[in-house]
Amino acid sequence: MTFKAEYIWIDGTEPTAKLRSKTKILPGAAAGLAELPLWGFDGSSTNQAEGHASDRVLRPVFVCPDPIRGGDDILVLCEVLNTDMTPHSSNTRALLAEVEERFAGQEPVFGIEQEYTFFAGERPLGFPVGGFPAPQGGYYCGVGADEIHGRPVVEAHLENCLTAGLGISGINAEVMPGQWEFQVGPLAPLEVSDQLWVARWLLYRTAEDHEVSATLDPKPVKGDWNGAGAHTNFSTRAMRGGAGAYDAIITACESLGEGSKPMDHVKNYGAGIDDRLTGLHETAPWNEYSYGVSDRGASVRIPWQVEKDGEGYIEDRRPNANVDPYVVTRLMVDTCCAALEK
Ligand code: ADP
Ligand code: MN
Ligand code: MN
Ligand code: MN
Ligand code: MN
Repeated sequence: MTFKAEYIWIDGTEPTAKLRSKTKILPGAAAGLAELPLWGFDGSSTNQAEGHASDRVLRPVFVCPDPIRGGDDILVLCEVLNTDMTPHSSNTRALLAEVEERFAGQEPVFGIEQEYTFFAGERPLGFPVGGFPAPQGGYYCGVGADEIHGRPVVEAHLENCLTAGLGISGINAEVMPGQWEFQVGPLAPLEVSDQLWVARWLLYRTAEDHEVSATLDPKPVKGDWNGAGAHTNFSTRAMRGGAGAYDAIITACESLGEGSKPMDHVKNYGAGIDDRLTGLHETAPWNEYSYGVSDRGASVRIPWQVEKDGEGYIEDRRPNANVDPYVVTRLMVDTCCAALEK
C-alpha cells in the first residue's frame, strides 16, 4: 500500500517568492509530521542555488489531509535547508520560529485577511474584452451574475481548506470585480503563516481546475480600482482582556510608530507597496504612520467594537496581498511584544 505526499515549499523568486510542489509516493498508510522523510530538490531551478552545488533540502513542518486527491493523501509544507541542515537564506520561517519562542509567554495570535484577484488570460475575471466594467461600488459582498465572478472557484477553495483542516474563518467578495478575500486565524504566528501558505497553494491549485489563475498582485489594475492587501489582525493575551487591556492595545499601536519602525515594517510588507499605499482606496500613505478607531484610512485600525469593549485586537492594514506571513508576523511580534514587555 502507498499514499501520495505533495511536498510544498516557498522558492527564492525575487522580489516575491512563489510556491512550488512535487509528489512523493510513500509506503504504508498516512503519516504524521514525525514520520515524514526529508527530501531534496534542484535549487538552481528555483533561484535557491547555483548550478554547481544545487541540492537543497526540504524539511516537513506542517502536514494536513490533501483535499484534492482525498483518501490517505496529504499536503506537506516544508522549509528549505542547505545540505548542512542550516536554514537557507530564503527561509523566513526559521527567523519567525526564534521570535515566536522568545515572546511565547505573551501568547500572540494573528488573523490574516488574504485578498486576491482571479484572472482569465490577461484580464481580471469579469472585465469585458477591450474595456472596463462599471466603476466600483456594487461588487463588495455582492450577489448576482452582474456583480460576481468566480464564485464556484471560491466555494471549492473554501471547501478544500475546511477539508484540509485549515483555520479558515471566512470569505467575501471584494471591491473590484474578480477580487475576493479569505481569512485565516486567529492562530499563533507559525500556525497562521504555515496555514496561509497552504491556503494560497490550495487557491492556485483549485483555480487551476477551473482554468482561471489567481494572483496576489497588490495592484492588479492601475487607476481607480482598489489594490489587494493582507490586513493583519494581531493581539496578545494582555490586549485580549483583563485590567489594562486597552492600554496594551494603545502601547502596541504606538510601538509601531516609533523611530524607524514604520519604515522597517513597510519595506518588508510586500513588493510594490508604494503603488498600493497611496492614501486613496482605503489606505494610508506608505510613508506616514497613523492609527485610529474605526479608521480605514489609517495604517493601523482599532475596530469600533474593540474600543467599546476596551479589549481585543488591532488591524495593521498596510501589508500587501503578496506579503510573506512569516515576515509580517515576525515584525509585529518583535515590535509590539518588545514594547509590551516593558
Ligand atoms: P474586516 O474586513 O472588517 O477588516 P475580517 O472579518 O475580514 O475584518 O477579518 C478580521 C480578522 O480578525 C479575522 O481573520 C479574525 O480571525 C481576526 N481576529 C479576530 N479576533 C482576533 C484577535 N483577538 N486577535 C487577532 N486576530 C483576531
Ligand atoms: Mn530530476
Ligand atoms: Mn476583511
Ligand atoms: Mn478586504
Ligand atoms: Mn480588514
